[in-house]
Order: sequence, then structure tokens, then C-alpha cells
Amino acid sequence: MRKKLALKLAYAATILLTLTLTSVGSRAVTAISQNLPLEREHCFIIDPGHGGVDGGATSCTGKLESSFNLEIGLRLRDLLHFLGYQTKLVRSEDISIYTEGETIARKKMSDLKERVRICAETDGAILLSIHQNTFPDSRYSGAQIFYAATEGSEELAKCLQRNFSATLNPGSKRDTKKAEGIYLMEHISCPGVLIECGFLSNPEEEAKLRSAEYQKDICCVIAATAAEFIA
Ligand SMILES: [Zn+2]
Repeated sequence: MRKKLALKLAYAATILLTLTLTSVGSRAVTAISQNLPLEREHCFIIDPGHGGVDGGATSCTGKLESSFNLEIGLRLRDLLHFLGYQTKLVRSEDISIYTEGETIARKKMSDLKERVRICAETDGAILLSIHQNTFPDSRYSGAQIFYAATEGSEELAKCLQRNFSATLNPGSKRDTKKAEGIYLMEHISCPGVLIECGFLSNPEEEAKLRSAEYQKDICCVIAATAAEFIA
């Protein structure tokens, strides 16, 4: 079973290396994945953080965090779907998903409540929230994984942190952190992790995070870990 999964992942990684996020690429992934049996017990909620009125952080070259999150979220949706997993993408364009609120603060709160609602209404939900980090000191780099207090979240976060260190962030001593003061993570009842993929304040890492190749690498690490988690 594990061997079969590893083969699938390797195959998916190869496909993804040539896949671009055009509608043709997406259609190709859908067409191929339709031939694979869908794993119906779980549903990965892919949450590209921020969007619309809330751009999140700004990178050292002026690109908004919400754009990085969306690009990676779309790729992750394609990869997990291709591997035969159910997914729900919280947003597929540069929007905030609020339903009410006149001020930006109220819109942000309404948006977060909507994201909580999507998790709550989904059977077998596992939340993968995609974000990017920033810090005043530009030397810091590498992924940082936060986990919700819900069952399974810490285990998934530890696996992700370990797999990022073993692949994309060699030598990283970074450890997982409990998500405190993060509304979405504190209000879900399903397993959930918040993945800060890297630092937008580090010029070298920001350049990598902007590249399609590195975004695909990130998605391979997340998808392989998520698949292992539910296997
Ligand atoms: Zn963020």
C-alpha cells in the first residue's frame, strides 16, 4: 500500500513538474484523476490565507502574501485531487469570502467565520491553511508549522515540519508551534495546521517562493505528508 502511494506521489511530482496553472493544465489533472478511485473518508480543506481586502504581509519585492498563498493553494488542490483525494478550496481567486460587514475589520472577521463554517460543514475535514512568514530580520528562512488544539493536529504538524526539514529546509532546527490567537485555528473542530511556507522577508527565499518550481516542491511535501497522515 505504502509502495503504491509512493509511486503515485513520484508520478504526480513528475506530472506537476511539467504542469502549469493554466485551465488546460487543470483540466488535464481532472481528466487523469477521474480514473483514480477517490478517497472519500477525508476531505482536505485547502485554505489560501487572506485575499481581497486583506492582502496579508508584503514581500521584500512588494508581492502580497495572499497571492503566494493562492498560487500554492491552487497547485496543492490540483496535486491532492490528482492523487485521488477529496479537496475543498476555500478561495480560487483574489477575494475575501466575507458575507457581511461594513468596515475592513468586520469583513475580515466575517471572512474567518466563513472559513470556520466550511470546515464545520465538511465531513472528515482536515484543514491545510497556507500562509507565508515575515520578520524584521531578513536572515530567517524556512517553513514554520502551527497546529490547532484539535486531535491529530500536532501529529500532522510534526510530520510536516520534519518533512520540510528533510527536503526543502535542510539543517532547519525549527519546531512546530501551537496556534494561539489565530481565530481560524482556535475555532475549528477538525484536525488543522497552518503552514507558513517560508519567509517573504528573506530575499533568497522570497525569490524561490515566487517560482513555480519551488511552489510545486512545497506542494509535494505537503501532499506526501497529508497522504501519509491519513494512510
Ligand atoms: Zn498570513
